[in-house]
Formats: sequence, structure tokens, C-alpha cells
Amino acid sequence: MKQQYDVVIVGGGPAGYAAALYCARAGFTTLVLEMLGAGGQMATTTTVDNYPGFDAGVGGFELAEKMQAGAERFGAESEFAEVTALHLAENPKQLETTAGNVAARAVIIATGAAPRKLGLPGETEMTGRGVSYCATCDGMFYRGKTVAVAGGGDTAAADALALAKLCKKVYLVHRRDALRASQSYLAPLKAAENIEPVLNVTIDALQYDTHFTGLALTDKATGAKRELPCEGLFVAVGRVPTTGFLGGQLALDKNGYIVADETTKTSLPGVFAAGDVRTKALRQVVTAAADGAVASHFVEEYLMS
Ligand SMILES: Cc1cc2nc3c(=O)[nH]c(=O)nc-3n(C[C@H](O)[C@H](O)[C@H](O)COP(=O)(O)OP(=O)(O)OC[C@H]3O[C@@H](n4cnc5c(N)ncnc54)[C@H](O)[C@@H]3O)c2cc1C
Repeated sequence: MKQQYDVVIVGGGPAGYAAALYCARAGFTTLVLEMLGAGGQMATTTTVDNYPGFDAGVGGFELAEKMQAGAERFGAESEFAEVTALHLAENPKQLETTAGNVAARAVIIATGAAPRKLGLPGETEMTGRGVSYCATCDGMFYRGKTVAVAGGGDTAAADALALAKLCKKVYLVHRRDALRASQSYLAPLKAAENIEPVLNVTIDALQYDTHFTGLALTDKATGAKRELPCEGLFVAVGRVPTTGFLGGQLALDKNGYIVADETTKTSLPGVFAAGDVRTKALRQVVTAAADGAVASHFVEEYLMS
């Protein structure tokens, strides 16, 4: 990568690569810094059915490759590196990355979100060895087995339904006495013979030796303790925005999302927030991509002023 760009975009998901496409096509030198791989969360899903233009759906990974290639066609550059620190009030703005330092006249933060963890001992150690945060990605490893899904919202419900097609039995474990999932999920959940809701419980511990064996639960109403033998746990208890690395330089809401409205403007001039990382009503591929386009519009306004 060069030492300075007009625009540096942190995060190579749909928001980041849509912004890169628009910025590069507008003639700005543009760099995308991505720490894992193009596509972000989208690349972890098998099929995206609700991104317009693909009448038979499209693989998340395939769409990610297309988004990256589309931006690079106009000269956007990609560097696979993690941004570890930023100095956003400086002019030009300075970014420290695992591939060296880079300066930018404008910065777009498009770092998305990551799954919320349960925070239980052994959770990190067992990730990929019985604990998963993506039913779509890992469900096939549990074909014919008994698994649990932790959570009670739409994601947990969708995960349970998807897993029920592969697994012998799916427990849907929720800390409240009723699921929060929307109506459209409740009927199919009820109809699925191999899904059993386990409600009003806390998960006290993960049980494992060389492999995952189950959950230790407490019934919140009675205080009774029980074990729930299962071979896998899918955690679906929400997502957390990736904003920790900003070091308090931008205004965040109470959940940690960057405060930015439909203009994608943040609390600092020349810094924009696009995609799942900003305050918004609907976090999807199409809204992330739209944010990228809008951010580029206001980047241009900022750079020209
Ligand atoms: C399993 C799953 C299935 C989904 N299915 C659908 C679907 O069918 N349809 C739909 O519309 N939406 C779906 N979504 C939601 C959709 O994927 C997200 O809304 C979308 O990916 C958000 O895009 P984004 O660019 O804002 O962020 P992300 O996709 O989260 O991308 C952010 C990127 O930033 C990178 N990053 C973070 N921090 C740094 C750093 N410090 N330095 C460098 N890089 C960094 C990350 O590695 C990541 O690649 C799904 C999500 C998941 C998890």
C-alpha cells in the first residue's frame, strides 16, 4: 500500500466494498483495509436470497468476491491488515495497521459487528470444537447429532429451524419464559417435531472434556439444576459492533454503535460510518451496501470543500 490515500476504508464487508467502488469510480485514491477476508459477515452465509439482482440467490462468499472485484476494477486497492489504532482528529488522518502506517484525507469506518459471546469459561477454547456462532456455516458438521441453540430472538429461531433439518434434536435454550422471535418463526418452530424449547433457564457452564458434551442449566423459576446433554452449541444472542479499536474518538450509542444518521457522518469531520457498525434500523447486506454509496457521496462533498 502507498503512504497516503484520499480515502481509507476500514473493513472489507459489503459496506466497505460498496464505498470503495463509489470512491474509486469517483476518481479518489482508495484503500480498503480488511483483517480477515472480503465480505465480512456476509461471506459466512451460504446463500443470500435478499440482495436484489440475483433471482436465484447468490453465495455469500461469491458475492463478496464480486464486490471486491467490482471495486478493484475502478482502481480501489485492498490490503489484508488489521487497523490497530487511529488518529482521526489529525489532518491527514493517521491509521496504524499490522501492515504499517497509512494516512488518509477521509476515513470510512465499515467494521461491522461480531457475534456476542455468552462469556462462559471454556467458550473460546471450545469454539470450533462444539461451540459455534454460525449455524449456516457449521450446521453440516452436526448432521444427525443433538445440539442446543442459545438465544430467543429471530436469529436463534432461524438457526434452530435450519439445524432441525440436519440434526436429530435441537434444544432452543432461552433465559426468558417466552421467545422474542417474530410471529413468522413461532409456527414453524412449534411444528418442528425435533425442536424442544428450554425456557426460563440460565446457562451456568459448558460441559466438555476432549469434546463438547452439554450444558449445565438452572431453572430460574424453581432454582433446580439440570444437565442438558448435547454435542454442539450454537450461540445466537446478538451481535456487538466492532468499535473498540476506535479508542473513544467517535460518539457511540449505549450499545456501542457509531452515532451516524443516513448521511453516515460521525461526530468527527471527514470520518464516516457505513453498514452494521452505525446506528440504524435494519442491518442487512443491501443496507450496508447502500451506506457505502452514501458515505462516498459525503466523502466527496468533504474532500471538495
Ligand atoms: C450468518 C449470517 C447470515 C446472514 N445472512 C444475511 C442474508 O441472507 N441477507 C442479508 O441481507 N444479510 C445477511 N446477514 C447480515 C449481513 O451479512 C450484514 O448485515 C452485512 O455483512 C454487514 O456488512 P458490513 O460491511 O457493515 O459489516 P461486516 O459484514 O461485519 O464486515 C465488516 C468487516 O470489517 C472487518 N474489520 C473489523 N474490524 C477491523 C479492523 N480493526 N481492521 C480491519 N478490518 C476490520 C471484518 O473483518 C469484516 O470483514 C447475515 C449475517 C450473518 C452473520
